[in-house]
Amino acid sequence: VAGAGARLPADDEGAGPRPVSWWHAAANHQLGPAPRRPTLPGPTDADVCVVGAGYTGLWTAWAVAGARPDWRVVVLESHHPGYGASGRNGGWLSGLMPGSPERLARRHPSGAAGVAALQRALQRSVDEVASICGEEGIAADIVKGGSLRAAFNRAQLATLRAELVAGRQWGVGADDAWEVGRDEIRRRVGVDAVGGTFTPHCARIQPVKLVRGLAAAAERRGVTIHEDTPVTGIEPGRAHTAFGAVTARWVVRATEGYTAALPGQRRALLPMNSAMVVTAPLPDAVWEEIGWQGMETFADGAHVYIYAQRTADGRIALGGRGVPYRFGSRTDHDGRSRPATTAALADRISELWPAAAGVAIDYSWCGVLGVARDWCPAVHADPATGLAWAGGYVGDGVAASYLAGRTLADLLSGDSTERVRLPWVGHRSRRWEPEPVRYLGVRTVYGLFRAADRAESRRPAGNGRPRWWAKAASLLAGR
Ligand SMILES: Cc1cc2nc3c(=O)[nH]c(=O)nc-3n(C[C@H](O)[C@H](O)[C@H](O)COP(=O)(O)OP(=O)(O)OC[C@H]3O[C@@H](n4cnc5c(N)ncnc54)[C@H](O)[C@@H]3O)c2cc1C
Repeated sequence: VAGAGARLPADDEGAGPRPVSWWHAAANHQLGPAPRRPTLPGPTDADVCVVGAGYTGLWTAWAVAGARPDWRVVVLESHHPGYGASGRNGGWLSGLMPGSPERLARRHPSGAAGVAALQRALQRSVDEVASICGEEGIAADIVKGGSLRAAFNRAQLATLRAELVAGRQWGVGADDAWEVGRDEIRRRVGVDAVGGTFTPHCARIQPVKLVRGLAAAAERRGVTIHEDTPVTGIEPGRAHTAFGAVTARWVVRATEGYTAALPGQRRALLPMNSAMVVTAPLPDAVWEEIGWQGMETFADGAHVYIYAQRTADGRIALGGRGVPYRFGSRTDHDGRSRPATTAALADRISELWPAAAGVAIDYSWCGVLGVARDWCPAVHADPATGLAWAGGYVGDGVAASYLAGRTLADLLSGDSTERVRLPWVGHRSRRWEPEPVRYLGVRTVYGLFRAADRAESRRPAGNGRPRWWAKAASLLAGR
């Protein structure tokens, strides 16, 4: 029975405003309510207008203001900082490469060497974010404990091993990721797996503490943030809102999973859904049994995988796909997820950590990440039009959005750094198919992935190889 192992939140579909994630609720509780900033007062001039106050928009604004203190930088946010994925994610600040390194290598003249440079820059970003947080006084519960992926059948182990081998082409060396045995996995995070992989390039964070601290740090550098100011259209030199337009030399679109709602952008980035739950704090006796003292982030090796972290206050926060995509690129209603998704994620916690079975689920939510048609992230700035954007990080955007924001700042200021030569700069993907093909395609792909996961976990596990239809689904998805 779904949800039998845990007590679910009483009202997942309830009415009334509630924070869009537990991270917001917890930050409100620990730090006090987030400051509310006024809407755009009327037509305004700026040097840079950033649309969206997630990590991409805020890092860009912070970095531009640092590089060009004389520039006026304005951020327009439809809700509040961290309303989107930046305030709802799993809190993996990871050096993992988003999207498809193979495709980036094929398309960019720098080939595998360029992708390896991007990979190293992402790995460095983990430490850079942690060190900037230190300098800026952002206490975001950061612990760099690495990341563990565990296989629960032989096919999953084969998938993880294949990823390890593939990563070697892109500069993921023997010190960057390696195989771990079942005993080590049991000792580290208390789950019974058949084997897995580990990378040290990952830190656990509290996503909203980062977003809040970053917004404050950008403001200290002179950036102005306007909340409750949805942008209704972007054109060269102008971002339009109901309160008037911001006229700027540069307009930066940092709207990721919400991009499809902007005029002309319907098929640019697909809003892929991901859902999360967080348990009540686990009793000390349960933590003694589980372990997880190293605060590693944790995921399984399934095609439709789950990801998790141990929070600073001793809870398990775990996420997974849920409903993958809503027809017409619609997004969720303020983070409310389906009760069936909450129940399935709660069940997974009980399966993985039987000692935690029966613990209450305190909160559930969902959000959207951005996926380009070729699954490659990109950073663009066109001096001719003054239009810039970054995104398409799929599920690995926490560190990547930092690197993208720094890169946008270099591009806007005309600084010729190593960052502006990375292969995701200027990368173009074709557009998504129109509906209903888009909807049917994503449903089919996830149907195949789920079927492959079920078949691979059946015992005896066949030849122990990943099912061919998972490969077919990846090809169909264009991953
Ligand atoms: C549930 C979930 C779990 C995830 N887990 C991880 C993880 O553990 N590690 C990881 O690396 N990545 C993870 N990701 C992905 C990661 O969170 C994102 O890639 C990253 O936060 C993207 O940041 P962003 O600023 O580009 O987009 P967002 O954070 O989505 O910000 C976009 C902002 O733009 C605003 N906006 C949209 N349209 C308009 C408009 N018209 N006018 C004004 N403002 C607008 C939105 O309100 C929003 O605040 C996860 C994502 C989700 C949804």
